[in-house]
Amino acid sequence: MLLSVYFHEEVALDSCRQDEGLHRYIPFSRMDSSGKPSTAQIVVLATSSALTAIFYSIYKNRAKTVSSLQEAKKVSIDQDLKNILSETPGRCIPYAVIEGVVRSVKDTLSSQFVENCKGVVERLTLKEEKMVWNRTTHLWNSTEKVIHQRTNTVPFALGSHDEDISTTVRVIRPLDAAELNLETTYENFHPSAKSLSTVIGHFISGERPKGIHETEEMLRVGDSVTGVGELVLDNNLIKLQPPKAGLSYFLTRMDFESLLRKQTTSVRVWRILTVVFGVAACSTLLFVLWRLYTHSRQSRKERSMLEEFKEQQRRRMCELNLEESSLSPSSCTVCLSRERSCVFLECGHVCACAQCYEGLTEPKKCPICRAPIERVVPLYTS
Ligand SMILES: [Zn+2]
Ligand SMILES: [Zn+2]
Repeated sequence: MLLSVYFHEEVALDSCRQDEGLHRYIPFSRMDSSGKPSTAQIVVLATSSALTAIFYSIYKNRAKTVSSLQEAKKVSIDQDLKNILSETPGRCIPYAVIEGVVRSVKDTLSSQFVENCKGVVERLTLKEEKMVWNRTTHLWNSTEKVIHQRTNTVPFALGSHDEDISTTVRVIRPLDAAELNLETTYENFHPSAKSLSTVIGHFISGERPKGIHETEEMLRVGDSVTGVGELVLDNNLIKLQPPKAGLSYFLTRMDFESLLRKQTTSVRVWRILTVVFGVAACSTLLFVLWRLYTHSRQSRKERSMLEEFKEQQRRRMCELNLEESSLSPSSCTVCLSRERSCVFLECGHVCACAQCYEGLTEPKKCPICRAPIERVVPLYTS
C-alpha cells in the first residue's frame, strides 16, 4: 500500500497540472489523446493518397489506350492499300491496325542454335539464377538477374496471308513497340559447379548460385503479327511507324482481339487498385477528422463543466461568507474548509477531502468532471 501510494505521488508530481487552481493527476492512458493525428496515421494517409494518385494516372492512361485501340482504323493488306493511302489527306492514317505475316526485306537472321530457323528480330539473354537467404523470413528466395542481353534486328515488312498479293508494309523501329512477345527458340540451363567447400561458403555468404539460364527468342519469318501505329505512304513505300504522342505503338504475335482483351484486363486491374487505395485514403482521412472532432467536443464539454463548477463554488463561498483570497489553494473544493486528501481515478482530479468524498451520492461521480469514480487513492503530502 505504501509503495503504491508512493508510486502515485511520483506520477502525480510528474504530470500534475495547475489547472486554474484545480490539481489534476493525468493518467497515462489519457496523455496521448491530444486529438492530433499520429505520425503513423499521417504516413498511412500520405502513402495511400500518393498511391491512389499514381494508380489513377496509370488507369487513365490505360483506359485512353483501350479507347484509342477501339477507335483505330482496321486496314487489310491488299492491292488497294496504296491507292487508299494516296487518297487520304496527308497520305497517312494516324492510328491503324494491320494484321499480316512477317516477310524479310533483304537479309534474315539465323538462329544460333536451331537449324533452318530464320527470323527478323533475335534476342539473346543470359540470366543468372540464385537463391538468396532472407534474414527476415528465414527462407531461401529464388532471384534472377539479367547479366547480358543483346537484340539484333534486320529490316522487315508485313505481307498479306495471301501469297499472290505483293503489297507489303515496312515496320519501322519494331523495338519501340509494346507487347513484342517473341517466340523462345532455344533455352538452356547451365548449373553451377558444386563442391563441399563452395556449399559451405554459400551458407556463410547467404547466396547460393543455381546457374545461368540462356535463352534465344525470335520473331520468325512467316509469323502472324498484329501492328498498331501510324500508317504512311512515303515515296511508294508503305510504312508502319510509332504514332504521334499520346498513342501507343503495338507489335505483337497476338491477334487484335486478344491484344484488346489483354489491355482491357489491365485497365480493370488498375481501376481496382485505385478504388482500394482510394477507399483506404478516404477512411484514414475520415478517422483523423473524427478524432479531431471528438477531441474538440470533449474539451468543450470539460470547459463548460469547469465553468459550472466554479459558479457553484462562488455560491458556496457567499453562503459561508468567505473571501476568495482567504481560501487556501489546497482546500477541498466542495466544503472549502478541509485540505484536499484524495485522487479520483480514472479522471485524476485532486479536488476533495475524504469526508466530502464519503458524502457524495451513489453512484459517486467526480464533482468537477462528472466522470464515474472507479478508484480513490489517498493523497499524502510530506
Ligand atoms: Zn471537503
Ligand atoms: Zn474529475
